[in-house]
Amino acid sequence: MPPRIDSDLCQKCGTCEDSCPVDVIYFHPDEGVVEIRYPDECWHCGSCRQDCPAGAIKIVFPPIMANV
Ligand code: SF4
Ligand code: SF4
Repeated sequence: MPPRIDSDLCQKCGTCEDSCPVDVIYFHPDEGVVEIRYPDECWHCGSCRQDCPAGAIKIVFPPIMANV
């Protein structure tokens, strides 16, 4: 499952796009919109959540990983 962005908290900085090692996230600079472009490719590594300055990202783990 992909990360979830809280649009109320998001500061539209684009950091999450730079943090993602597999380009799951695309930031539209003109619109200031974060798009989860390739949700099935998410590794659940947590880099985007860790680097987000606004605490706007929540990682939703698939059930098989939730008990690890
Ligand atoms: S890093 Fe956080 S605040 Fe910045 S664009 Fe991504 S979700 Fe929004
Ligand atoms: S958890 Fe990791 S792989 Fe998934 S979107 Fe965030 S940075 Fe990319």
